[in-house]
Amino acid sequence: MTGSLIIAGLGPGDAALVTPEVSAALACATDVVGYAPYVARVPAREGLTLHPSDNRMELQRAGEALKLAAEGRNVVIVSSGDPGVFAMAAAVFEALEASPQRQNLSIRVLPGITAMLAAAARAGAPLGHDFCAINLSDNLKPWLTIEKRLRLAAEADFAIALYNPRSASRPDGFARALEVLKEAGCGERMIIFAHSVTTPKERIEILPLQEARADMADMATLVIVGNSATRRVGRWVYAPRRAS
Ligand code: SAH
Repeated sequence: MTGSLIIAGLGPGDAALVTPEVSAALACATDVVGYAPYVARVPAREGLTLHPSDNRMELQRAGEALKLAAEGRNVVIVSSGDPGVFAMAAAVFEALEASPQRQNLSIRVLPGITAMLAAAARAGAPLGHDFCAINLSDNLKPWLTIEKRLRLAAEADFAIALYNPRSASRPDGFARALEVLKEAGCGERMIIFAHSVTTPKERIEILPLQEARADMADMATLVIVGNSATRRVGRWVYAPRRAS
């Protein structure tokens, strides 16, 4: 039996941003595993079994995908954006560490366009100089670690991409994150709220951080905080290529 597991990213939403490599993998798959809204983006066809699962089931989902591949299936496990960015690739390798007998399986990771890059492209070039990305979810790390990383990123003058800014189960964290950034002297920096980028619901808002309200973000929003030199040119925002 020669099963395989491909860990693929479906991009931020627009079908045109699924890479040809990922489309080819999906065309050869016998099974697609993933969080239900992402599996719903894969067209059904004969011979393809879809395995949608709930949110926060990453480890079980990864284990199921490895098991199917070990049984000889051609499995694609899907994430939105890029599978290595706050997504399934790390969960699969975590599951693999716990199942050494599966380590000889054929496993490949196929990159996708992550939300931060799609959002940056809409705004101009806010990630044109040094930047970092922080996941604001405290499901898997203490909130104090998030605050520390925000403060140090501000001090280092990185542009900062914020994933998972706010959800129904975490309504207050983003307001606190904005406070931390203001306390760290980022009030006059530009902040970009990129909502549902590359989908019909896309909305982009750009304003000074001190005027931002927490309710401008939800789970479908990618937030970018500019660095101290980030500026506007016409309707665009960009980070100059030089820093002092
Ligand atoms: N692997 C994904 C990220 C998963 S974490 C990637 O590489 O993009 C989920 C978070 O990604 C969301 O809370 C949001 O912050 C961001 N996100 C995903 N798709 C998005 C989109 N189309 N527009 C804006 N933000 C998006």
